[in-house]
Amino acid sequence: SGHGDTEALLDALARIDERIHEERAYLTELDSRIGDADHGNNLARGVGAVTDKRDELAGMALDEAVKTVGTTLISEVGGAAGPLYGGSVMAASRELEGGLDAESALAFARAYREKLMERGDARPGDKTMVDAVVPAVHTFQRAIEEDDLPPVDALAKAVDAARRGVEYTVPLRASKGRASYLGLRAVGHRDPGATSTLFVLEELLATAED
Ligand code: ADP
Ligand code: MG
Ligand code: MG
Repeated sequence: SGHGDTEALLDALARIDERIHEERAYLTELDSRIGDADHGNNLARGVGAVTDKRDELAGMALDEAVKTVGTTLISEVGGAAGPLYGGSVMAASRELEGGLDAESALAFARAYREKLMERGDARPGDKTMVDAVVPAVHTFQRAIEEDDLPPVDALAKAVDAARRGVEYTVPLRASKGRASYLGLRAVGHRDPGATSTLFVLEELLATAED
């Protein structure tokens, strides 16, 4: 546990930073349709601040490093997404105290979902990041506990479930966040936060596959 796991985290964070910067304009464009056109910029600022702490994170145990990622996202991302992403990462970080394995990865995923839904008070179908997270965590849990799949294969299935969850947001009206003020005008647009959640999961999978 400990150091090797933190190195894997740093790899994942570097990929996430790169991906979010690549998708920055796209995420902001999605948010311009049903929000205030800042989601890509908010996240790019947050992951950039995390990357700036890379050397500091490298000296930490995994759970402490993940907690620091969470607090950094809370203070740098802002808006609705900052406390939701950052607070959920921060709360779930304690599940990684003993290092990273299938069991702690699943515990992290479940704690993330729980904190996200508690903070945002959103349910599946509200057209938020919950629509990516809930199917992903459900699928991850089933793949590990029932199908006995290796964590990487379970994560691949979770990413597929998140992708379907993002598509599921398109025909919905929003019940939470800024998009909820639009009523029917939110219909036909992909939720920005669900979409960025998918990108993060895709990069976690790419790291795990390496
Ligand atoms: P803001 O709306 O403050 O500008 P962002 O644009 O960064 O924040 O993030 C918007 C995203 O936050 C939405 O696309 C949605 O996925 C997510 N979101 C907003 N409110 C909630 C909520 N109550 N629960 C879960 N996710 C939410
Ligand atoms: Mg916004
Ligand atoms: Mg905003």
